[in-house]
This record gives sequence, C-alpha cells and structure tokens, in this order.
Amino acid sequence: MTTVKYPEVWDLDVFFKGGSESEEFKSFIDSIPAKIDSLRETVDSLEQPKSAQDAPKIADVLEQIKDVMAHVSHAGGVLSCLTAQDTTDREALLLQGKLGAISATTSPVIQKFHKLLTNADAEVFEALLNTKELAPFAFIMTEWREQARLKLSQEEEALISALGVDGYHSWGQLYNMLIGDIKVQVDVEGEVKTLSVGQANNLSSHKNPKVRKDAFNALEKVFTEKEEFFAKTLNHLGGYRLATYKARGWDNVLQEPLQINRMKQETLDAMWGAITENKAPFAKFLTHKANMIGKEEMHWYDFDAPVTASTATMPYQEGAEFILKQFGKFGKELEAFTLKAFEDGWIEAEDRDNKRPGGFCTGMPLAEQSRIFMTYSGTMSNVSTLAHELGHAFHSYALRPVHMLNRRYAMNVAETASTFAEMIVSDAAVQEATSRDEKIALLEDKIQRSVAFFMNIHARFLFETRFYEERKKGLVSSKRLNELMEEAQREAYAGALGDTHPHFWASKMHFYITGVPFYNFPYTFGYLFSLSIYAKAKEEGAGFEEKYIALLQDTAVMTVEDLAMKHLNEDITKREFWEKGIALCIKDVEEFMELTTK
Ligand SMILES: [Zn+2]
Repeated sequence: MTTVKYPEVWDLDVFFKGGSESEEFKSFIDSIPAKIDSLRETVDSLEQPKSAQDAPKIADVLEQIKDVMAHVSHAGGVLSCLTAQDTTDREALLLQGKLGAISATTSPVIQKFHKLLTNADAEVFEALLNTKELAPFAFIMTEWREQARLKLSQEEEALISALGVDGYHSWGQLYNMLIGDIKVQVDVEGEVKTLSVGQANNLSSHKNPKVRKDAFNALEKVFTEKEEFFAKTLNHLGGYRLATYKARGWDNVLQEPLQINRMKQETLDAMWGAITENKAPFAKFLTHKANMIGKEEMHWYDFDAPVTASTATMPYQEGAEFILKQFGKFGKELEAFTLKAFEDGWIEAEDRDNKRPGGFCTGMPLAEQSRIFMTYSGTMSNVSTLAHELGHAFHSYALRPVHMLNRRYAMNVAETASTFAEMIVSDAAVQEATSRDEKIALLEDKIQRSVAFFMNIHARFLFETRFYEERKKGLVSSKRLNELMEEAQREAYAGALGDTHPHFWASKMHFYITGVPFYNFPYTFGYLFSLSIYAKAKEEGAGFEEKYIALLQDTAVMTVEDLAMKHLNEDITKREFWEKGIALCIKDVEEFMELTTK
C-alpha cells in the first residue's frame, strides 16, 4: 500500500477563502475597474513623447499596465481553477463573465498608448529606449511600434476589429456550432452508440479494428453530407483574413503567424526542410506498425491502434515520486520546486465527478504561485501529463524575477518547458520499463508524438498554405478542399498512407480558430526546439540547469533566432540545427524496430 504523502486535491483557499462565495474575492474583482480608470486618465493626459525626458512618465504607464494585468490574471487564474474543479459552480461562471467584461475595457487604452509610442520620432524613440527606466522594455516597445506601423491607421484598424465581430470571429463560432451539432452512430461491438465527433474520434485507439474503421467511416460520411456548410465557413473566414491582409498590404499569408511567434520565414523553411528530408524512418515505422496489426499499409483509422496489450499503471503517490526522482537527475532547482508544488497543494489530480476534462496549468501572479489541473487515473500518459503541466509551472517560476510585461511568450516557445519536462519523464519510463510489452507501448507512444508533429501537423500546414493561395483567386469548392487535403496528407506522410482522411479540413477545429492564425507549425517548432535543449542538457549534465533557467527567462524578450543563438549557440535558420532533434526521434524508431522485429 502506498502512503498518502502528497495531497491530491489542490488548495485554492490560500488565495480567497471560500472560492466563488468569498466576499474578499468579489471585492478584489470589484477593485479592478478603478485601476483601469486611473490607467486611462494617465494615458489621456500623456502627450506624444518629445525627448528622453519623457521616459519616467512612460515607465509609470508601464507599471500601471502591469498592475492591471497582474490583478486580471490573478483573478482569472483563480476563476479558471474554480470553474474546472466544479463545472456546476454558477457563481464562478458569473464572476468569469464579469471579469471578461472588465478586462475588455483595457484594450482601447493600451491601443492609444501604443499609438503615442508609434507616432514618436525615430530619434526620440531610440533615446527613450536608452534610458535606464525603459531599457528593460526595449524589445516589447519596439515590437509594439513595428506592429502598429505595419497596420493601417488607428481608425481603420478599429473598424476592422468592429466588423470582425460579425464577419470573422462569428464564422469561427459558427464552426463550433456546426461541429457540436453533429452526431454519428457507430456499432461498437454489437451496441449501436450515438456519438459526438470527439467521442467518435476517441474510438481511434479501440482495440477492435472494425470499430476503428466504422467510426472513421461514419465521420467521413457525415462530413461528406455537410461539406458545403463547412466549405462556406472556411472560405469566408479565410476571405476575411485575406481581405484584411490585402488592405494592410501584406502579401504573405504567413506574415502574421510568423510575427506572433517572433520567428523568421527562413527558420520555418529550415525546420520543414529538415523534416521533409528525414521522413523515411517514420514512413517505415508506419508501414511496420501496419504489418504488426495485420495490415499491408497504414490507413488513417489505424494510426492509434494499440500494438501490445500492455496496461502499466502507477498510483498518484508513486507517480509523484517517479517524477521527483527523474527531475532530480536533471537539476536541483526543478526538483525542489516540484516537491514544493506537490507538498503545498498546487495540484488537483483527484478522479471525481463534475470536473472538466483535460489538463492545464495557470498562474496566480500576485501570489507567485501556479495551479495544475488534471484528472489522474493512473495511466502512464497521466504521469506524462502531470510532468508536462509541472514543466509549465516551472516556466512561470523561472520567470518570477522578470517584469510581467516581459513574460508574454508566444505559442512556439510556450511548450518548451512543458515538453522538456515531459521528455525527462517519458524517456525514463521507457528506460525503466519492467516488461518488453510495456517498453514497446511506451516507445510507440513516444514515436507517435514525432509522427504527429512531423507528418500530421505538416499535412495541416501544407493544406492551409495551399488553401490560402487558392482562396486569393476566389472561392474554393468542397471538392477542391478534399483534393488539397488528400494531396497534403499523401505528401506529408511520405507515401506511407493507405486510406487518407479527405474531410480532415472539416473535422479539425484548428483551421477555424480566429484568435491565432496557422494553429499548427508552432507545435512542431516547440517540440523540436525543446528536444534540442534536452539533447544539450544530457550532454552537459548537472551544470545545465542554470543555463536552462536563463533561457526560460528570455523566452518573451527576443526573437526565437536570438534566443537560440544566445542560449544554445545555435543558428536555427539552418537545417543542421533541426536535424539534430530529428535524429533523436529516429533513434526511437530504430529501437522500436529492433524490439519488434524477430
Ligand atoms: Zn502544454
């Protein structure tokens, strides 16, 4: 029997006792509008900067923005915990709506402030960045200025945003309605079940091949019936985006996503180039796996088929000890931090009713703490998820000495610390597996991640770039969308695919996210970037932790090219950098082949 050493239910009372019923919490939220009012007054009284003498006034605005942000994200963090731990907590949902409305009032104020900086003379701006007050913000202030310069006038951009509510974002919302409305019937070993798209997708790992194929066919059928609705949605969402880009004079559809991720086109090209050149081992793996399950080639519906009957489990207390032990081998600071998170109730892991699905990590900046949410049922993938979320929490911990405005990292580096932590643990799990079957299952899980990032995400990227090119010329028919998707899949899976999934463009929500364009390549970037950090860590041993923390602290104050050069001494615009990470993934494939070939 394992003793209960670490709590499995988190402590939220330390922030506001009584959760959504707490009067103290309510008055905390009520105190935020006054802070925003005072920020607005300061910005309204500010004139366009004329010399370096204006630096203290600008620094004062930055401090006020920080204060508002810290309060909003502190309350927001607590609220996401409250709504996740109990989906029936109506009071928390109401407070969430209230906080959302409050925080929306800050963006016009911040826009106005950015405009003042943009309009300043280049010389004045340079002089400001050289003052002791503003030097720490040189990167983000330059970024604000550049972004505003690439856009249209404040009035025109305001009009675009206003029209976007109904003409852009609502297409994304319509997609959610369309997909939410779909139900399919699947015969699951004699029992006909009515399932949502998500539930039908979950059958992809069912041990019975007929169930997997039936679920897939049911989805393809319903998407074929409704393809015109999805094609219209995608065409108009894309059309709005392209019209906006055209008005701004942006020709490259990747300009915005690259800018958001603070990376160069060359870097993206080098990454995909290295991946494209190295697909053969993964294609071989897919065919080998198909053979293992009695098929000649890999079909879309068999990707997640289990290859062994292994079902290794690890109770929570043991999982925690395992993670601590593996983290300890990497670095003392990560280990000590994690121990504190386990002991102090930073983690909600209990398997009980009314919790929302999935996992996340959120920060409460005013308390310099994080909270991790998940439902731990004892599978090895739960152990990985827990390590993953602890990685996110460690990233926030590493950023504590950094000014809040310098902590806003992009999606491509957001997953660096999490993937890194997950890698430490999943690598150790493979190494310490007690049976051959368990080892095969864990290794296969690891390789599937590489296949997802190098092939599946690549197919999405190829499809999306080609779709936008064709959309520039006019509407793209559903028939053409299917063709584009099929071509992208054949190419991205390097000829290893039997049956494809032509309606993937309709079934994948990521193509319809309006908040973040091209919700695909940053995933692959994050995976390979963190793999190369992992390789360096293994090479350098115990001394690496300090360098790792320094890298995390810089994730939001420079381009990814500069980040890699400064901390890893690597030029990520060159293919060689990406090839090193891919080589590690190929090793997994080789080991898998050896274990499973007689
Ligand atoms: Zn994550």
